[in-house]
Amino acid sequence: MKAIRVRAFGLPEVMRLEEVPDPAPGPGQVLVRIRAAGVNPVETYIRTGTYARRPALPYTPGNDAAGIVDAVGDGVRRVSAGDRVYTSETVTGAYAELALCDATRVHPLPGSASYAQGAAVGVPYATAWRACFQRARAVPGETVLVHGASGGVGIAAVQIALAAGLRVFGTAGTADGIALVLREGVHVVFDHRSAGHMEEAMAATGGRGFDVILEMLANANLAGDLKILAMGGRVVVIGSRGTAEIDPRDTMARDASILGMSLFNMPDADRAVVHAALVAGLGSGTLRPVIGRELPLSAAPESHVAVMSPGARGKIVLLP
Ligand code: NAP
Repeated sequence: MKAIRVRAFGLPEVMRLEEVPDPAPGPGQVLVRIRAAGVNPVETYIRTGTYARRPALPYTPGNDAAGIVDAVGDGVRRVSAGDRVYTSETVTGAYAELALCDATRVHPLPGSASYAQGAAVGVPYATAWRACFQRARAVPGETVLVHGASGGVGIAAVQIALAAGLRVFGTAGTADGIALVLREGVHVVFDHRSAGHMEEAMAATGGRGFDVILEMLANANLAGDLKILAMGGRVVVIGSRGTAEIDPRDTMARDASILGMSLFNMPDADRAVVHAALVAGLGSGTLRPVIGRELPLSAAPESHVAVMSPGARGKIVLLP
């Protein structure tokens, strides 16, 4: 099969398309023929070699893919050859024509969702669902700000929160991103490049503040977030690319909580709950991943530049 291989950590160009042997499923494993693979920011951090997780070289990047089950190993009963599935993690890497997965990381892909949409689910939708319900414990009727709503996790969070009966506000940094987030049905969108957007957001809640803020760039926004929370408000730190200085008194004044999360820490029992909800949402059509760009597998280097550039408008996927 063809697969992207990384033989040394570094710039996007270290990712090269190579011919490698087809993997074969062992006990408890599933072999998926990939139709689309999702590109996540974390795969760029890992590629540089500076992230906490450093795979042994050479390796194939990628966690999220969608495709058709090619073969299953002994003891696998969740799926059978020919099933449409999406993955939430792989053993051999998702930027490839085939990926070996643990059976617990393979989930049914309803017929209403395309393969490209299936490739947008694993990391982004699971992150958004866990942030909203397992970390912030949001309940219907609460008000949520998705700070960075135009990207993979942000669009997922908007759809998940709206479907649950939350009042949803969002931010984006470009005209296209703002239009996209509005189309998804959020109540008001703010421009996170504008200096006054925090005050505007606070005013839009009538001065009450947000019960929940899902934060994609905490180093830029955390200090300000703490000032626009409602009493008992929670900020979930989903993304951060640097340090932040906060005034701890802002948490005292509102009995506020700052909650970190990493999908890598999610216990198996929680993962099962999350993916049961996501499969149901894909099937009912409340969850409709938005694809911003489709690129061939050989364009993996370009996809890593694009995912780290401003102007998100949905998910970037690679097509083998
Ligand atoms: P993405 O598709 O590249 O989207 C990035 C988002 O961040 C876009 O909506 C972008 O908006 C927004 N953004 C840019 N500048 C911002 C600012 N000043 N304030 C608020 N938002 C801003 O990435 P993603 O897949 O959605 O991931 C988002 C972040 O979460 C990344 O840092 C990623 O590493 C992290 N993440 C963490 C976990 C976890 O387990 N904790 C899981 C998944 C992702 P514009 O482009 O419109 O400016």
